[in-house]
Amino acid sequence: MKKPIIGITTNTLAMAEGPHLAFERSYVNHDYVDALTQAGAVPLLLPIIADEESIDLQVSCLDAVVISGGPDVNPLLYGEEPSDKLEFINPERDVFELSVIRAAIKRKLPILGICRGLQILNVAFGGTLYQDVAEISEGQQHSQKAKKHVPSHTVEIVPHSKLYALIEESTVFTNSLHHQAIKKLALGFKVNAVAKDGLIEGFEKDGDEFILGVQWHPENMIKTDPLMQKFFKSFVGLLK
Ligand code: MN
Repeated sequence: MKKPIIGITTNTLAMAEGPHLAFERSYVNHDYVDALTQAGAVPLLLPIIADEESIDLQVSCLDAVVISGGPDVNPLLYGEEPSDKLEFINPERDVFELSVIRAAIKRKLPILGICRGLQILNVAFGGTLYQDVAEISEGQQHSQKAKKHVPSHTVEIVPHSKLYALIEESTVFTNSLHHQAIKKLALGFKVNAVAKDGLIEGFEKDGDEFILGVQWHPENMIKTDPLMQKFFKSFVGLLK
């Protein structure tokens, strides 16, 4: 059986040291690549480009899209001025990913948003974000100091959701490495996972389309948590 090809959106990064300081790199954390490869898919990195037609051609090569983690989303995209708690933004990436999402919807491709990926999906469909997670988290830590694979808080999974169908557990312990969170949920979406402080840890589109996001980073946990391996295996299984 042909392995599904899954595009992963990327970041740009200027080198902090060494002989190549002037160069900006396109990159993605390798855990995404490992997670999709182990789950039986072929990952393909999508560099940030601006031309809409070319983005549509990028997406035309794919069976599904993963919108990966990264910096804060530009608040101007959801009608807010930047708060003094807003961190680094990459507006070119925002615009690119909104185009990727449009192209994927047009082609009815499944979309999985991880962390920032969930946030930009919410914005793409008309929702808004907390610019700083502290606005909602009431002191609960969502930007863990523990290593990235360590499960640091509880997440309750909503029964009968698409997310529940992927992992078949109602309580999971996840890592938490996010600075923003969903404020107003996009129309046509429902919450599928919640933290103890009420923060939205996952959402999905109503209906038959598979557009689903999680606020944590399952790809960082696959080496130590079989449930997160199952998450990716079940997702890739939908594409076969
Ligand atoms: Mn969290």
